[in-house]
Amino acid sequence: MKFFRCSVCGKLAHTPTHPECQAPPDGHRDGETYEAQFDYHRLNKQQRRVWLAVIDNEWHTLAELSDLLGDPETSISARLRDFRKAKFGSHKVDAHRIVFGGGTWEYRLDLIGASSGE
Ligand SMILES: [Zn+2]
Repeated sequence: MKFFRCSVCGKLAHTPTHPECQAPPDGHRDGETYEAQFDYHRLNKQQRRVWLAVIDNEWHTLAELSDLLGDPETSISARLRDFRKAKFGSHKVDAHRIVFGGGTWEYRLDLIGASSGE
């Protein structure tokens, strides 16, 4: 097993940067209902929760993440879309429908594919 020095925290890692250490930076959100004084910290904390739940490179449904985190599915969906934006790191978030799951969408954060240039 090859080891790297994480480029963010400097500790040993199996990848050039720990997935935890690639968490998107805090930032303001788009949207008509966004009010910084109420939403900035709340949504940045929510972003960290969602990030830590999806860095396992597995597929997740919004319902599963909502059960796990206690956040509404619409909020989790918004945070996953934010991860794709340049200001939140231009991350690769794959989405597909479960064929035998009634068309439910599943999402996967793909840190590995993105970093190896696939
Ligand atoms: Zn690290």
